[in-house]
Amino acid sequence: MTTPTTSQNNTSTPTAVPDATIHVVSPVSGELTAEVAVTSSSDLDAAIANAALAQKEWMSLPPAVRSQKLWKWGELVDAHYEELAELDTSCTGKVLRESRNECLMASRNIRYWAGMADKIFGDQLADVPGRFSYTSREPLGVFGVILPWNGPTHSFIARCVPPLACGNAVVVKPSELSPLSAIRLVELAVAAGLPSGLLSAAIGNGAVGTELVGHERVRGVSFTGSVATGRKVAELAAATFKPVTLELGGKSPVLVFDDADVEQAARAVLMTIYSNAGQICAAGSRLLVQSTIADTFVARLTELTHQLKVGDPRDESTHIGPVSCRRQYDRVMSLLEAARKEGAQIAVGGGRPEGVDKGCFVAPTILTRVTPDMTVSKEEIFGPVLTVAEFEDETDAVTQANDNEYGLAAYVWTTDMGRMHRVTAHLDAGAVHGNTPLVMDASLPFGGFKHSGVGNAYGADAIAGCTQTKRVTLRTTTEPLPNPWSFQ
Ligand code: NAD
Repeated sequence: MTTPTTSQNNTSTPTAVPDATIHVVSPVSGELTAEVAVTSSSDLDAAIANAALAQKEWMSLPPAVRSQKLWKWGELVDAHYEELAELDTSCTGKVLRESRNECLMASRNIRYWAGMADKIFGDQLADVPGRFSYTSREPLGVFGVILPWNGPTHSFIARCVPPLACGNAVVVKPSELSPLSAIRLVELAVAAGLPSGLLSAAIGNGAVGTELVGHERVRGVSFTGSVATGRKVAELAAATFKPVTLELGGKSPVLVFDDADVEQAARAVLMTIYSNAGQICAAGSRLLVQSTIADTFVARLTELTHQLKVGDPRDESTHIGPVSCRRQYDRVMSLLEAARKEGAQIAVGGGRPEGVDKGCFVAPTILTRVTPDMTVSKEEIFGPVLTVAEFEDETDAVTQANDNEYGLAAYVWTTDMGRMHRVTAHLDAGAVHGNTPLVMDASLPFGGFKHSGVGNAYGADAIAGCTQTKRVTLRTTTEPLPNPWSFQ
């Protein structure tokens, strides 16, 4: 058992948080993986004060030097990716191969933003005669970043690096389920030469998150998590007028038309729903298939699902690990029960995998005859569960796809490019994919429509959420100022 502590001095009694330690439990064995000290209110206060000081030091460095330090951090993340992947798998049960990939995506993300750090410019505005105006993009100061558990290293980097590259300091609260890699990533940032205190981790549950968001000296918030918590965070941030970026849940539709490459589509549909045991915000969890091919398509999905191995996430031959914790397991099981009661049919799966009697494992599941009024049609399941409904034509497909409060990702499978453009233009989703499973990259904007979020955490679009615009106007003429009040 490892017993990491936070990077802050953690000796005083926590005031707002009931437990002094977080217990990290393996979803594979149910055993204690680690115990981590919770950040007390006074330590959080000190971390935010240190961050405010470090932010001034950070901004006093030339942008090219900030860029070099971030680049060095990326190199260290690369050098430690096995260790980080192991920490993430030990907390979440994520298949180790997927944890490794996510750590490599994380270092790519740092490098992207290291390259961006000396390219954050304002504009020249010369419209008013005799005046010259320009804008600069200025950091907000201290950013509070709150993270979920489903991709610990990846989401830490994706949400912390843009504000840092834009000149902010960051206090980050990882999920209480997966705090270990966050602690290590802060150590690696210090080793890379980021000023001490510029980036620190606050450990704890929602109470610590609430303190962070509500803190007067935190001037910007980036939240990734569920819609329900996102709403609370947005309300709290509004009380102190902080800008907030929200990356929330999804219920992303996959539209398969009868002219699609059916075999490619079937494989991609399964990768899009079963990766990370379905615990990906952009998981393609709602399959909408044209009625003319529905039976054969579902039969092929079922056949392919039977080929998948559920089990030990460290075993290289495993495709699907457990869901991340007991609470998540119970939630998925209760949604499966609701689906049964409401009349859905189970094509494959539907409960625990056969022969697996311990751990938070859920068999990969396909539910057919799902109608829009069913609970599984509306709620994000966040488990390896695909719902299937049929559509007749393009209009019906788009109507069903948009009939949901979420709007994160969407996937379209057709070989008719005219149809592809018509359909993608009408989908309410922040990231639409044509004939491909999910694509994520540091350079590609990713944000939600409707209840799936506000703002963007990826690509150059993220700069707007990490900076505030200052406009400066200078008089360029030597002519005397007009004197409308007839001053003598
Ligand atoms: P969650 O909302 O339960 O928790 C997220 C974080 O918020 C945790 O760190 C938690 O401790 C903290 N928190 C809880 N209550 C809080 C409060 N009142 N104030 C401040 N912080 C609080 O979400 P989760 O279960 O950790 O993550 C799963 C959810 O995250 C899913 O809905 C998933 O779709 C979403 N997600 C979205 C994206 C995206 O990019 N859109 C990415 C990953 C996950």
